[in-house]
Amino acid sequence: MTIAQSLLSLQGTDQSLALKRREYREVQTELDSEGGLPELREICDKTRVRELEAKVETARLESDLAVLRNEVAELETRLYGGAITNVRELTAIETEHSVARRKLAQVEEAIAPAQVAAEHHRQQFADLTAELETKEKTWKTRLVELRSEKAKRGTAFNEMLQVRNDEAALIPDDHLARYTRLFRSNRGIAIVQVDRGVCQGCAVRLPVGELTRLRAADGPIPCSCGRALLTEN
Ligand SMILES: [Zn+2]
Repeated sequence: MTIAQSLLSLQGTDQSLALKRREYREVQTELDSEGGLPELREICDKTRVRELEAKVETARLESDLAVLRNEVAELETRLYGGAITNVRELTAIETEHSVARRKLAQVEEAIAPAQVAAEHHRQQFADLTAELETKEKTWKTRLVELRSEKAKRGTAFNEMLQVRNDEAALIPDDHLARYTRLFRSNRGIAIVQVDRGVCQGCAVRLPVGELTRLRAADGPIPCSCGRALLTEN
């Protein structure tokens, strides 16, 4: 095998290796996401808090309602019971009565929307809890698959890496260093072929002088585009 052929083969291996690395990372990313469960749990907790708050608010209003109804009834008993002996007392109780009536009306108005809100949050929490349960079950199964997939892909990567290192060991250091630098900076393409005088990397026709130089060289030579090394097809 010529140096150019070895480098072309190495490039093929490196491209497969990059693909295997990507496949491995995909599994890792999915594992890290935990099937979206942490986010769902957080939303579930928040909804639970909202439900509790709405319940507390409803209970508070209901208790206020009972207290105010009592107060109004008592005041009315006093107002209409005939026991009041002077105008000042009457006026005071009338004022108290109208204040209590106003508060009662406010509470009565607020109670229905609070109950609706509490029911809404209760339903939301119930739905989320059910969704969470389903997703937790699905994730349990998926987790087993992913762990086995991760092990498989890890092994495949390591095997390919071994092949890669064996191939690289046969290539002279200076050629390998140039190749590696280009492979990294040129996103996985270091070697391109020249087909009928045209660089397949940048589609530019090589000057005759360059072609002669390429044929005389012991390995690939840099293309004028500067992004790749050339070898003849
Ligand atoms: Zn080129």
